[in-house]
Amino acid sequence: MIEIISRKQYDEKFKEGFPLLVPQFVSETDLSKAEGELFHLLDHKSHFIAKGYVGKQNKGLGWLLSWKENEEINDQFFMSKFIVALNKRTKFFQDEETTAFRVFNGEGDGIGGLTIDYYGGYYLFTFYSQGIYKFKDSIINQFKNLVAFEGIYEKRRFDEKGKYIDADDFVMGKEGDFPIIVKENGVNIAVNLNDGAMTGVFLDQRDVRKKIMRKYSNGKSVLNTFSYTGVFSVFAIMGGAKFTESVDLANRSYAKTVEQMAINEIDYDIQSIVIEDVFKYFKRAKNEEKTFDMVILDPPSYAKSKGFTFSSAKDYTGLIKDAIDLTNIEGMIVASTNNSSVTREKFKAMIDDAFKEKKANYKIIEEFGLPKDFAVNDKLKESDYLKVVFIKKS
Ligand code: SAH
Repeated sequence: MIEIISRKQYDEKFKEGFPLLVPQFVSETDLSKAEGELFHLLDHKSHFIAKGYVGKQNKGLGWLLSWKENEEINDQFFMSKFIVALNKRTKFFQDEETTAFRVFNGEGDGIGGLTIDYYGGYYLFTFYSQGIYKFKDSIINQFKNLVAFEGIYEKRRFDEKGKYIDADDFVMGKEGDFPIIVKENGVNIAVNLNDGAMTGVFLDQRDVRKKIMRKYSNGKSVLNTFSYTGVFSVFAIMGGAKFTESVDLANRSYAKTVEQMAINEIDYDIQSIVIEDVFKYFKRAKNEEKTFDMVILDPPSYAKSKGFTFSSAKDYTGLIKDAIDLTNIEGMIVASTNNSSVTREKFKAMIDDAFKEKKANYKIIEEFGLPKDFAVNDKLKESDYLKVVFIKKS
């Protein structure tokens, strides 16, 4: 058994349940050849603190799984975590209006490095390190006995043999006839579990889409930037928006957005879908003096395109400033970031800077974080990564 020693000043933090094996928090250990092995974490006096597995993922070398010395990490362990997680989501399984949600959320449900999503009868397992992938058979075997399903898919989001791959694979059951159509608050969404890293929808924005649809879009013109498959536009239209413009750089966005609209019987010919760099689009839209009642900003944490690099931690103020120019008075900006290194306070400070620099007034009307199915580990604040702010320009 590998033994890792905590640095004295971090003993308490680990004992209180901090789940991530951060290299700076422990004495130096070479774990490069130990992916998937179990270890014991000991305090500086060599007393047991917790046990976990080695799995390199972003800033961590592994995850702690149990603080009980006599608890084994085995089939039974995985099964018990899955039972607790499934029981927490009973209401989701009963809701006929929403058939896609997260069933298991990594460290928030007790196993860092693993998520499980449900998409209308299909389960998608995402493994975030080679280490956790070594437990795949046990994980899937235990889980599959607890649920009814059509099929199971997996995504491996880690470095394999030196190069980063984002592979996806059918695992068992029936293969899906993609795209499959799931429902979210009564709206149809086309999903593909077998087409690269993304499925067509980001489930963590469910509550935001619902609010946009039910409360803020009726009769409004809406600009949806970084629109991907246009799901925010679809919800705005279902809520009565009079016009949407969806802007994304990726060519695939056009057909994917048409598809999401078509399956909801939306006449996409009277909507606008623009394939363009958002930063170029902003310049053009300003020249053309375009304005909207609502501007949605949901950029990736980092984006690189011809002539522009965007980092949400550094450049979000500029993005808001662009949005201010295109937003009508009394209109709304919906600003979102999923960058875990940007705190909510910092995000709001960037919003404030943008309005001050533009000499415009605003009021924050609503704020959102992760929905309930994205269980958060309160010992690891970065796991609570989503920040969405509805800002009214006045
Ligand atoms: N808002 C979307 C998710 C966005 S994913 C949703 O709710 O579903 C990020 C998207 O940003 C990707 O589709 C990517 O193609 C797009 N993107 C990245 N950089 C861009 C840029 N400079 N201009 C326009 N789109 C960009």
